[in-house]
Amino acid sequence: MLACYFDAFRAPPRLETLPDPAPPADGVVVRVLATGVCRSDWHGWMGHDPDIRLPHVPGHELAGVVEAVGPEVRRWRRGDRVTVPFVCGCGGCHECRTGNHQVCEDQFQPGFTHWGSFARFVAIHRADVNLVALPEPLDFTTAASLGCRYATSFRAVVDQGRAGPGEWVAVHGCGGVGLAAVQIAAALGARVVAVDIAEDKLALARSLGAAAVVDGRAVPDVAAAVADLTGGGAHLSLDALGHPKTCFDSVSCLRRRGRHVQVGLLLDAHAAPPIPMARVIARELELRGSHGMAAHRYEAMLAMIAAGTLAPQKLVGRTIPLAEAPGALTSMDRFQGTGVTVIVEP
Ligand SMILES: [Zn+2]
Ligand SMILES: [Zn+2]
Repeated sequence: MLACYFDAFRAPPRLETLPDPAPPADGVVVRVLATGVCRSDWHGWMGHDPDIRLPHVPGHELAGVVEAVGPEVRRWRRGDRVTVPFVCGCGGCHECRTGNHQVCEDQFQPGFTHWGSFARFVAIHRADVNLVALPEPLDFTTAASLGCRYATSFRAVVDQGRAGPGEWVAVHGCGGVGLAAVQIAAALGARVVAVDIAEDKLALARSLGAAAVVDGRAVPDVAAAVADLTGGGAHLSLDALGHPKTCFDSVSCLRRRGRHVQVGLLLDAHAAPPIPMARVIARELELRGSHGMAAHRYEAMLAMIAAGTLAPQKLVGRTIPLAEAPGALTSMDRFQGTGVTVIVEP
């Protein structure tokens, strides 16, 4: 199969013909029809992810068709249209047994713990636990855009953040995760304040339902600006970027008893950011993490997409062929463009 692959961190990724994968006994091989390019892939390529063993094929936001099925798989057959969360559970640990596959103690992550989907085929383990059936009207490109940033935002806003109608929700950072959070929170009836330092992203946030925007470069204090706009602070705030500044601003912009959800990854030099903990105590703030979303929660998200309440296709920026994957991967840290880049028919 043709694949985008690297054998040293920070070395230029290459297009190579690699052996086709065989299905694991409890898994399937998916013929990839669309796969998103994500900042997590860039972190992996940079060597920030300890799970990755070289050589490596990145890619974890995939949609496609089941090509081959292992002997222990019961729910899936060749030709099924599927996607998969970026964190796959084992199905047997305490967390999986209580429905929290997104924090499984023995995770399978395509594109991190195993070879991923910047390739014509990808092997997916524990298929009965982790595959999600795609409804017929949902195209593969949109489906691929759900697997990581959109699903992560759905869980962060709906499950971890518990956003409610009429509440003020601040979203710090309007990349893929942030713009998805804006759309999802607005769909729930919340009033959204989007924060970024790029005008085009703030304009897109407005078009996706943000009631107000804050340009972080134009105000001396982002938290004070959000407090002014919201009459005392946000009920819920998300750091959708994953940076010490946005994390600090997100906690600081909350009203009393507000909820901060950390969605953006804080890696490498940013792994231990300063938190205004005195404010957390004095205001009884709630701090939560959010890490992907289990396969069984896709049903609620897919139902809102089918009803037209959510429109993830608006967040797809451009589609590219696999030949452009190396360049797209290595430039993911430069924030250019808006929306999700999706590799089609690799
Ligand atoms: Zn598990
Ligand atoms: Zn991702």
